[in-house]
Amino acid sequence: MTIRTLLLTPWMTPHRVISYERAIVLSFLGKVEVVAEYDELIRSPSLTIRAPAVVRQRRARHAGKTRVTFSRLNVFTRDGFTCQYCRVTFERRELNIDHVMPRSRGGATTWDNVVTSCYPCNQKKAGRTPEEAEMKLLKRPVRPTSLPARARLDADQSELPALWKAFWF
Ligand SMILES: [Zn+2]
Repeated sequence: MTIRTLLLTPWMTPHRVISYERAIVLSFLGKVEVVAEYDELIRSPSLTIRAPAVVRQRRARHAGKTRVTFSRLNVFTRDGFTCQYCRVTFERRELNIDHVMPRSRGGATTWDNVVTSCYPCNQKKAGRTPEEAEMKLLKRPVRPTSLPARARLDADQSELPALWKAFWF
């Protein structure tokens, strides 16, 4: 099985899901403190420790240091897998990305010009702007500074380990 660790912000809110190996490294570096441990033992030639289930960052990372990679999946994640025109939440395979200013009219494929769209809305809007198509955007697209761990996990449709539940809200 894959052991995953929930990384919390210094304020105890979910930040992201990391591998337990990464969590152990961060713990040794003093960057995180272990909040909860699994029963599973991790054995290496030199030591045996319990796998960290939940760790907490000791300090906030400097703003601007993290850059969310631009990808279709990350656009869907930013938008909560919700079509930004009809406001319905879909499965990943039912979603497309829509250029707010159409590509045919010079619109760029960038965080601030693409939104999550279902295929029917995408087809209906076609080569028009939201104003021309009279299709109101749920929100103006912007580059995210981080992606919500919850959305990422929902996308995986994974089950939450029991030890995470106290921190997952
Ligand atoms: Zn739609």
